[in-house]
Amino acid sequence: MLERYFQYQADLAATERNMLCPEDCDAPCCRMTEVFVSVSLFDLIRLSLALNTPVSSLFLNHCRFGFQCNELNPRYLNLLIKLERPCPFLQKARCGVHSFKPFDCVFFPEYHQIAGVLPELAKRPVFKKIPCLKSKIAVSDQRSQALKELKKMSTREEALSWYFLLEIPCFIIDTKPLVKQLKKSGLKSKSFSAENYHRHLYEKLKTIGFFDGIMDKVTRLDTRQEMESLFSQLENKTLITSLLEKKESPEIVFRVDKNRLKPVKRYLQRPDLIFM
Ligand code: SF4
Ligand code: SF4
Repeated sequence: MLERYFQYQADLAATERNMLCPEDCDAPCCRMTEVFVSVSLFDLIRLSLALNTPVSSLFLNHCRFGFQCNELNPRYLNLLIKLERPCPFLQKARCGVHSFKPFDCVFFPEYHQIAGVLPELAKRPVFKKIPCLKSKIAVSDQRSQALKELKKMSTREEALSWYFLLEIPCFIIDTKPLVKQLKKSGLKSKSFSAENYHRHLYEKLKTIGFFDGIMDKVTRLDTRQEMESLFSQLENKTLITSLLEKKESPEIVFRVDKNRLKPVKRYLQRPDLIFM
C-alpha cells in the first residue's frame, strides 16, 4: 500500500518534466546554506524505504530543526525540519535520490513558476547564484496539474507529520518576546543575523525541553507497522480537514516566556498593505 502510494507520487513527479539541469551546473540549490529543503516525516519514510535505512537514522544524521518566517506575518516563525547542507544525497553535482527526493526538491523551481513567485524569488540576492531562475521555465499544462496534485499531497503530509510529532498541524513561535529579551541583554539587532537568531531560538527551546520526546516518536517510525499506521491517517478525511483548516488559519502560537513555552491565541493575518 505504501509503495503503491509512493509510486503514484513518483509517476506524478516524472510527468512531462521538460526542464533539464545543464551539465555544467554544480547544483547550488543543493549546496547553499541559504537555500533550504524542508522535509516531512513522509519524505523521510519515502527515503527510508528506498535506501533501506531507518527513519530515525535519516532524521538523526541528515536533518536538523530550523525556522522560516510565517507567510502570513514575518513576526512569527514556523518550525521546520531541514535537510543538512550541502545535501548528503548530492553525488557529483547530481541528486543521488532523484526518484524519491523530498517534495521541496521536486517542486524546485517549477512550482515557484506555477505559483507566480519566480520573478520575485529571482530578484533576491541569495538566488542570484541559481542559474535556472534567470529565465522562464517551460512547464506543460499536464505537468502543472501533476505538480499541483503533489502540492496538495505534500500539504496534507506535512500537517499530519507535525500532528504526529506535536499534536498540532504546525508549530508557530512569536519572536517578539525573545527579540525584546535579546535587546535587553545588550545585543543590537545589527549584531545578530537571522541565522544567529534562529540558533538562539533553537537553543532556548532545547533548554526548556521542547524537543524531548520527539526522537522517540521518530524512532517509532522505524517499524513498518507504525509507518502504515501514520499513513492510514492520511485517509481520515475528518482529521485531515481539521488539520488543514488549523494550518491555514492558525489561532494558537507559542511564545517563550520566562523559560516556559506559553500557547497564546492569535489570529494570524497578512499585515496591512502599506501605501507609499
Ligand atoms: S540550480 Fe537549478 S539548474 Fe542547477 S541543479 Fe539546481 S535546479 Fe538544476
Ligand atoms: S535530495 Fe537531491 S535534489 Fe534534494 S537537495 Fe538533496 S541532492 Fe538536491
